[in-house]
Amino acid sequence: MISNINKTKEILSFYNLNAKKKFGQNFLVDSNIINKICDCADVNKEDTIIEIGPGIGALTEVLCNRAKKVYAFDIDPDMVNILNHELKDCSNLVVFNKDFLDINISDYIKEDNIKVVSNLPYYITTPLLLKLLNEVKVKEIYIMIQLEVASRIIGKCNTKDYGSLSCLVEYMGKANFEFKVTRNCFYPAPNVDSAILSIIKEKRDYKLNNEPNFLKFIQNIFSMRRKTLINNICNNYDIKRDILESILNELNIKLNVRSEELLLDDIYNIYIKLFEE
Ligand code: SAM
Repeated sequence: MISNINKTKEILSFYNLNAKKKFGQNFLVDSNIINKICDCADVNKEDTIIEIGPGIGALTEVLCNRAKKVYAFDIDPDMVNILNHELKDCSNLVVFNKDFLDINISDYIKEDNIKVVSNLPYYITTPLLLKLLNEVKVKEIYIMIQLEVASRIIGKCNTKDYGSLSCLVEYMGKANFEFKVTRNCFYPAPNVDSAILSIIKEKRDYKLNNEPNFLKFIQNIFSMRRKTLINNICNNYDIKRDILESILNELNIKLNVRSEELLLDDIYNIYIKLFEE
């Protein structure tokens, strides 16, 4: 199946369907982009792939041609019905009608070292990304997301894009902006441009007794961007200001520092002194 806008419209009309906004359905209609995604993920016959939101299967079909096994999860039973008919010859494809946010991946997939390759539903990008980052079976992530979110994820310290998402991803692995995808590569066209982001998971070598607490700390210190680090911490924790001041002095960090001025190592050092020393 060569994907293009006419073919996509034809399939939707054959099944008497329209793209559903509530499920973030913007279908990829550019075969070159689909191949480029699979090339950048180096999808090959050794790979077990998860695709979140296969839709009518434009990317799914190419993944099946290239990979060993493809597990596809879509929340919409209409999409699952289309896939079961249109891709019935793909013997290495397993389709589940599930909300990916609700599932425990190990209940569905026994393989490890999984690559995720997906054009994500944008309305749940952040929770999906956090789930994938925390899932040990997932080793590499190649996702289509909003351009603006991609910029935030790869944002560097001291820029407006830098924030909790950049720090969380930096802690979990190496993120790379692969390429931009313009809105006219989709049907219906969304009102934002997109990008392919890759994340190769490799956790920082930090010693932590309570990792979830550290991850929460990262989110908390960026909760009010205009406030100083000290104000953000005081707002979220029952910690005295003079204790914070002495920790910052000890670490040679100015007292009025804002979180976006801190490298991940600084955040880790502050966290350890506050909660684990
Ligand atoms: N992969 C297809 C493509 O590129 O043409 C469709 C991508 S479309 C942006 C997002 C897909 O995610 C839709 O098929 C939608 O039904 C599905 N979806 C939305 N929310 C979901 C969820 N919570 N779990 C699984 N799939 C979901």
